[in-house]
Amino acid sequence: MAFIFATISVEAAPNNIPHKPDYSHPKGTSPWPNYGERPKTNTPEVKAWIKLVDWSKVPKIPVRDVESPGDPPECPKGDVPKEDCWWTCTGCFAPDDIVDCPAKNAWGLTFDDGPKPGTTENLLNLLDERKVTATFFVTGMNSMKAPWLLQETIDRGHHLASHTWSHSGMTTLTNEEIVAELKWTEKYIYDHTGYKIKYFRPPYGDIDNRVRAIARQLGFKTVIWSSEWDTQDWQLEEETITSRQIIGIFKNDLQSLPKRKKGVITLEHDGDPKMTVMARTLLEMGQKNGMKPMDIAQCLGDKVGYNAIPAPPPKLKSAKKPNSDIVKKPVPTHDDDENENDDNDREESDKDDTPMAAQVPPHTQSESSNSKEESVPGSISGKAVSPGKKPSDAQRSYNTAGLSVACWTLAALAVSLVL
Ligand SMILES: [Zn+2]
Repeated sequence: MAFIFATISVEAAPNNIPHKPDYSHPKGTSPWPNYGERPKTNTPEVKAWIKLVDWSKVPKIPVRDVESPGDPPECPKGDVPKEDCWWTCTGCFAPDDIVDCPAKNAWGLTFDDGPKPGTTENLLNLLDERKVTATFFVTGMNSMKAPWLLQETIDRGHHLASHTWSHSGMTTLTNEEIVAELKWTEKYIYDHTGYKIKYFRPPYGDIDNRVRAIARQLGFKTVIWSSEWDTQDWQLEEETITSRQIIGIFKNDLQSLPKRKKGVITLEHDGDPKMTVMARTLLEMGQKNGMKPMDIAQCLGDKVGYNAIPAPPPKLKSAKKPNSDIVKKPVPTHDDDENENDDNDREESDKDDTPMAAQVPPHTQSESSNSKEESVPGSISGKAVSPGKKPSDAQRSYNTAGLSVACWTLAALAVSLVL
């Protein structure tokens, strides 16, 4: 019996999405925007999505200047109208911007800009090792490089959210471009996982009331990060900051913890091995100081964390859950002297081995009352998955659920033969 289960666990890969990039379609045949480009706004998909927005509710704030496309905007020399609430140039937050975790000592752990094959896996292994979950704000464009990592991230208990398609400053985009960035990313994640994302972080934190009005109407909640809790780890890749400097910044932040009434949301990145090493150091430092790391859904007490999730697979009564963990490589530790902690200091979190989809009840209704139900053009309907209703065949082909059920059916047959 044990032998049978052992064999199955090897065969039951964590997901069955082919490990190949999604931009390898022959030219002109990809259903997705071209890799490395902003999505076009004159396609049938985007035209349909534009109709979801009541444009009379979107303030007429001008598109911001930018030196080169994809960069953050340039702040004007004159005053910025207060009513624009433009975070980049005035630090203004709207009342519904999410910038902190409500509970003291809660630590919303977030990693932006992935997925990145070869790096994301190490980050996931680190989080497994520390028994914590995080929110990954992924870009649609980078997801095309490694679509299988989306499901892998969910299967390992983490939370996916949107960081737009092309990582452009959102205030530098036209209304139509903003819609295209948000909806293509939502569709990409939905088509590859069955999860309809709810939380969105604007690249560079660049948001004003025009962008907010569009994002809200499309059902997204905006997440920035707590003031002063930007770790600056992105500079490691460009070598414009040292590890020691980042640790120093974080140490300063930690000193402010006792005075804080709320928890924090930190900003880190998934894009470079050095950042993963730094993530370990910061995790150890934070946990030693009583911070409790968790993903954004947990930090907000949002039991679902998405606008829709797949229906859970049917349960098999006598089946014992196979171990479907993939081979886990050790994550390198930080060379810096600061990192003297050992794993005995580890803070145990509430995370268990059950993927998020199985932890929450089937849920289809967005908390956002202004989220509209729509049909997403393309191969898979964009409608929320109804409770008890299975996802489409195409969707299930991306899902581990079908594979697990098949394996357990085989197991049951094998057991009955042995007996
Ligand atoms: Zn980013």
